[in-house]
Amino acid sequence: MRLSDYSETSQVATFVTDTAGKLAAIAKGSKRAKSPTGGALDLLSVYEIVFSPSRSGGLATLREAGMKEHFPGLRRSSAHFYAGLYLGEVSSLFAEGSEGTSEHFDLLVESLRHLARLEADEVPYIILFFESHVLEAAGLEPNLSSCARCGGDLPKRGAVRISLEDGGLLCGSCDGGVEVRPGSLAALRRVFESTPQSVRRLKLRADLLAEVSSLLSAALIYAGERLPRALKFAKPRAARSWRRWAPPREGEAAQSTERRGESRTGRSGASAGPRAGKRPRTHKRPARREDGG
Ligand SMILES: [Zn+2]
Repeated sequence: MRLSDYSETSQVATFVTDTAGKLAAIAKGSKRAKSPTGGALDLLSVYEIVFSPSRSGGLATLREAGMKEHFPGLRRSSAHFYAGLYLGEVSSLFAEGSEGTSEHFDLLVESLRHLARLEADEVPYIILFFESHVLEAAGLEPNLSSCARCGGDLPKRGAVRISLEDGGLLCGSCDGGVEVRPGSLAALRRVFESTPQSVRRLKLRADLLAEVSSLLSAALIYAGERLPRALKFAKPRAARSWRRWAPPREGEAAQSTERRGESRTGRSGASAGPRAGKRPRTHKRPARREDGG
């Protein structure tokens, strides 16, 4: 999902894997024609890899890499490519700490496959599909069926309020939250029920598409506690508007820039991963890690 030059001939690559979560590895000599990786690694492609894990918790060492699938369609337009980078970045964020499950990997590959085939005006829809299903896979999707705070019934008509802090919609007796228009809420429910094939047929009105898109980004940022760097390229409008849904939590205002803001300088290895565990109901977290082989 990410590549950087390590030296004249070597690269550092970040992978989303089907068995080891997120993996950062050094590919020594990868840019030589006769390398075990068959030449320089490419972004947004599916590889079968062999690696040696690091003993110190640093970079793994890539031993072999064979390309299994690549998506030329992602290079058709900047909208496609940026969307691909965004999907990859979000996936690697949520794949952290999810070793042993291929759910994130499968969702990412399936979404990239569809993205590569879509027309440019359909790109926002596959992003919506991906975002909603990443949240679902992590057990962090917003509760849209009852009050997320007290469990009570939702108002039958009119606007409803959503509170990302509470994990979903609020009833009339619970205060706080941000108002969601009925049309956007209906669209959001359909996005969560969509498949990669059906999502582009939603054909939402522009204002509803923008609202749902912004709300889903906010839910992802809130759940992942990180602002994906590709957001402002893949979803410039949502990058400007997502904060409307996610006011800083109490006592957090001072830190919010550091934790979720764009002014982050460099990466911190100690930064928090997704808020897994908040609702572990559907999160498949293995009981043990296999670091050995
Ligand atoms: Zn309530």
